[in-house]
Amino acid sequence: MAAGSAIQIPTRLPLLLTHESVLLPGSTMRTSVDSPRNMQLVRSRLLKGTSLRSTIIGVIPNTSDPTSDCDDLPNLHRIGTAALAIQVVGSNWPKPHYTLLVTGLCRFQVLQLLKEKPYPIAEVQQLDRLEQFTNGHKSEEELGELSEQFYKYAVQLVEMLDMSVPAVAKLRRLLDNLPREALPDILTSIIRTTNQEKLQILDAVRLEERFKMTIPLLVRQIEGLKLLQKTRKSKQDDDKRVVAIRPIRKFSHGSITEDEEEEEDHDDVVMLEKKIRTSSMSEQALKVCLKEIKRLKKMPQSMPEYALTRNYLELMVELPWNKSTKDRLEIRAARIVLDNDHYAMEKLKKRVLEYLAVRQLKNNLKGPILCFVGPPGVGKTSVGRSIAKTLGREFHRIALGGVCDQSDIRGHRRTYVGSMPGRIINGLKTVGVNNPVFLLDEVDKLAKSLQGDPAAALLEVLDPEQNHSFTDHYLNVAFDLSQVLFIATANTTATIPPALLDRMEVIQVPGYTQEEKIEIAHRHLIPKQLELHGLTPQQIQIPQVTTLGIITRYTREAGVRALDRKLGAICRAVAVKVAEGQHKEAKPDRAEVGEGEDCKEHITEDAKSESINDTADLALPPEMPILIDFHALKDILGPPMYDMEVSERLNQPGVAIGLAWTPLGGEIMFVEASRMDGEGQLTLTGQLGDVMKESAHLAISWLRSNAKRYQLTNASGSFDLLDNTDIHLHFPAGAVTKDGPSAGVTIVTCLASLFSGRLVCSDVAMTGEITLRGLVLPVGGIKDKVLAAHRAGLKRIIIPQRNEKDLEEIAAHVRQDLTFVLAGCLDEVLNAAFDGGFAVKARLQHLNSKL
Ligand code: ADP
Repeated sequence: MAAGSAIQIPTRLPLLLTHESVLLPGSTMRTSVDSPRNMQLVRSRLLKGTSLRSTIIGVIPNTSDPTSDCDDLPNLHRIGTAALAIQVVGSNWPKPHYTLLVTGLCRFQVLQLLKEKPYPIAEVQQLDRLEQFTNGHKSEEELGELSEQFYKYAVQLVEMLDMSVPAVAKLRRLLDNLPREALPDILTSIIRTTNQEKLQILDAVRLEERFKMTIPLLVRQIEGLKLLQKTRKSKQDDDKRVVAIRPIRKFSHGSITEDEEEEEDHDDVVMLEKKIRTSSMSEQALKVCLKEIKRLKKMPQSMPEYALTRNYLELMVELPWNKSTKDRLEIRAARIVLDNDHYAMEKLKKRVLEYLAVRQLKNNLKGPILCFVGPPGVGKTSVGRSIAKTLGREFHRIALGGVCDQSDIRGHRRTYVGSMPGRIINGLKTVGVNNPVFLLDEVDKLAKSLQGDPAAALLEVLDPEQNHSFTDHYLNVAFDLSQVLFIATANTTATIPPALLDRMEVIQVPGYTQEEKIEIAHRHLIPKQLELHGLTPQQIQIPQVTTLGIITRYTREAGVRALDRKLGAICRAVAVKVAEGQHKEAKPDRAEVGEGEDCKEHITEDAKSESINDTADLALPPEMPILIDFHALKDILGPPMYDMEVSERLNQPGVAIGLAWTPLGGEIMFVEASRMDGEGQLTLTGQLGDVMKESAHLAISWLRSNAKRYQLTNASGSFDLLDNTDIHLHFPAGAVTKDGPSAGVTIVTCLASLFSGRLVCSDVAMTGEITLRGLVLPVGGIKDKVLAAHRAGLKRIIIPQRNEKDLEEIAAHVRQDLTFVLAGCLDEVLNAAFDGGFAVKARLQHLNSKL
């Protein structure tokens, strides 16, 4: 390490140009190399060279090498440090670069540049020699005095540091063992100095000059340390702001020195401690925090743990340990808020009011957690928000969809890099009170992974017996969650972990009927969209027939989210027209396009108002609202998305409509079948589960055994339906996985249509499980399925007889529009599915053929 001791550096040196750091003799530095010239040097000299000489390079500080190769070499600093490359590490990320570890040997001066490309090589003269140190031109005494003084300060500085740190103890030993002359360089590179100061030391070729320049740097560091220790001692005196220390600025050219920053930080720590003491955290938490702050004070800021501990303490101070909002619960007011915010949903509102009433009478929250289960867009989140509003509490939504790591709920331990608290504690920090309403959205979409089961962590959060001492891994102290009101939402209960489901009271929120949707649109969605787009009812008018048009032709959903979006799109389009201050005159002959009953209303509306998509431009009279009719609708939203689909698809034998239940609500499902020559194979396509496949086999077996009775034949007229025949059954919408037994009756009907060559009625939908003996068994989700059929415009619905009781849940006006066929066996299903009945007709055909 001794600089210059008996070292003879080569007279020609390749030059490494550094920009950000200054290497001094006797010190070691790591530097990143990415400019073309430096990269060339590393590649062709350090990586290919074999001798020790080839690892000696000249490091020229304060030069930024231009990035492009063709540029001229920048002006080089006159003096550099010869260095030994100890280690080269290459990496390709984020861009190709090397990291060099170099140790400074001695100073040199550039005499002449010999070569510039691919990397600079110069003829150099070595400046530091050991002989120079002792036989300098100054008298030994003078230098001796200087070096003695320097040594004194150096020892004082090192002794102020914590000797228990091994590096400090080693430095203390080095002070005695190294030649004095080497010390200025080494100490300058250790103590806090700017690059500019280091550069001045490098330029100080004469030893005397070097000693003289380094002494003030040492003094500055000593003063800084003294002040730091003093402020630590006076930490009890909280209110006294620590006066910022001005370090000696003789050599410093930066605006704010790091010492100042350190002082400010220290000041912050004092403030933090004050905050901790005055916060209302639990005793256990206070104890932990005080211990942490004690550690923080001893820690150098450069340690990564410093920031970690500080963040932790700041979070602890911010958490609402004892801060809550006052509940203002009044059941009558709550009823009004719920009714004002939401149309329909009577069952849900009733249960919520019961829940709130119990809260009012008995002021504790130990009850089941409410869990709203229903398709998307039916207002689950929005009811949760209303509950918070009625209680006067803060509302916070925690989305759990896709969460698969239990640390998401319970936080990471603080030993991890990037550790942080879980979502519950984070939510509390965000709302700033300890009694908010937390909406745990999509609990059915929690996933499991190697990182543990988040559902298990949620159990602790939701269990009233345990959650008063919920321990987040990050906090590592208990936090009382018993005042938080948890509400969960889900699309289906099937995927909610049973233990979690057990702690919740499930309230089903079914989809809406068309009439309900129209009311919701006009009472809530349209006013909301108008406000969002800065429109008034005087500027836009959306009649109910248009809303119905949007619902039936542009959306097919159980909730109202897509409807809301479409209304938003209409408002945007109108906003443009209003902003332009123009719209187009109506053409009187447009009325023809209105349909059926809507037509009358359409004509009258048309006659007195104008649509936005006609030809002649007119200035918009301020009192004339823009009417959204079917023309305007088509113009804004494009051609209808769901038109005539049902009847078009049922125009050939081998297609039937089933009703399926999915977490997104009920849906109609087409089942298609075809036959071809083959060996009696059954092919099933369309993402099916095992139960569905079994239903298909059951259906075929039943039809084969009853083929004669119904006069079903294969292509060659044989009653053995699979003789020389392959059957392919397809359930379209293959992206959705379907399973469950309820498609049984639909498959039978579809195959019966295929083998009899007759069309299934186009307005019939069906659901039901079948047995091998031809019985029809009950299935679930009847309400959602019926609503889906109603949405799709179907008129007759075949359901299992034993599901009759479920029809009571369906709104009267929906029931009026539909005819229900309650089937106990497959005969009844087939009779209802085909015009004129199935079995009877078959017998007739049979008789005809005999004639
Ligand atoms: P979910 O949480 O069930 O997916 P949201 O609560 O996000 O659905 O509801 C979507 C939108 O529909 C919200 O803007 C909400 O106000 C509105 N909405 C749903 N149902 C109703 C209702 N019955 N009355 C009024 N608005 C409703």
